Amino acid sequence: MTQKRILVTGGAGFLGSHLCERLLAGGNDVLCVDNFFTGNKPNIVHLLGNPYFEVIRHDVTFPLYVEVDEIYNLACPASPVHYQFDPVQTVKTSVHGAINMLGLAKRTGARIFQASTSEVYGDPTVHPQQESYWGNVNPIGPRACYDEGKRCAETLFFDYHRQYGLDIKIARIFNTYGPRMHPNDGRVVSNFIVQALRGNKLTVYGNGLQTRSFCYVDDMIEGFIRVMGATPDGFTGPVNLGNPHEFTILELAEKIIARIGSRSTIEFKPLPMNDPMQRKPDIGLAQETIGWKPSVQLDDGLNRTIDYFDALLSSQQS
Ligand code: NAD
Ligand code: UDP
Repeated sequence: MTQKRILVTGGAGFLGSHLCERLLAGGNDVLCVDNFFTGNKPNIVHLLGNPYFEVIRHDVTFPLYVEVDEIYNLACPASPVHYQFDPVQTVKTSVHGAINMLGLAKRTGARIFQASTSEVYGDPTVHPQQESYWGNVNPIGPRACYDEGKRCAETLFFDYHRQYGLDIKIARIFNTYGPRMHPNDGRVVSNFIVQALRGNKLTVYGNGLQTRSFCYVDDMIEGFIRVMGATPDGFTGPVNLGNPHEFTILELAEKIIARIGSRSTIEFKPLPMNDPMQRKPDIGLAQETIGWKPSVQLDDGLNRTIDYFDALLSSQQS
């Protein structure tokens, strides 16, 4: 076992905290950097006693000087409610954050992974989405701070790779869910589960016929590790990571009500501007290059996520 010094930016967030856990379990020395905008200490409190785990409260829009072997760059709010709260800071986090982390990788010679997103495809006109598709993004709409920020980060990764020979890996993450999503972060799985557990109406935006494909967090983290470790060494991505099973939002709402046995009903609300109508990854490249495909079925992943939120809401009541 080779112990590496690994930096995880956004390490106190939903995906970041699971990644830190997984890297520590693999015997690594993990440095978590977070400004706690959407992440929180309860997500990582169970790791704080581990001598190989360190936390720095830091905003990635400012330079960071540490010595590491690998960098996972996850820092960025991911839910529309949060990334639209301060859109200028969202752009800075993606763009200045990428420049700072790429500068760090350049100085230390570290391999660097970028958590990109299916949002780089925008409201796609090609279905399912392959990595070769350049996307359909509104550059001036309310989602642009996130979508264009992430697109620019990909540009920077490839320019540092071509210009300075940096060892880069880019994963395009599709909707991922699981324990430690923020209960108020506005994303569909956490919203519906919390609403159903409370017996409130489930807020379906638009007619609910828009589609998404949902990947369970453990599958996603396995994908990150494989992308980072990918051979041959020259493999950069971008590579799609997500679950290729597609569901309408209405189907998801009905499934969650049924699994919880909730008395909740469905309430239709206006569709947010530029909300993509269809989204489903083509994961052929991930299968071929890193032998990855998700293994957790939606029903199983939902059960684990429902158990998490049930316990969380009960602890908040008591
Ligand atoms: P999250 O909001 O739970 O985590 C993001 C973390 O980044 C939080 O801990 C937050 O405090 C931190 N952060 C934000 N701005 C920062 C800054 N300027 N400096 C330092 N830390 C900062 O979201 P998540 O779902 O865990 O997403 C993690 C990454 O994966 C993000 O980059 C996101 O864009 C990407 N992603 C996630 C999904 C998904 O479905 N969860 C889909 C596509 C892409
Ligand atoms: N959505 C919904 N009700 C909610 C939250 C979200 O109908 O309470 C819809 C949203 O409009 C979108 C889909 O669910 O079509 C996924 O939304 P989310 O914010 O989870 O992710 P993204 O749009 O980034 O894929």
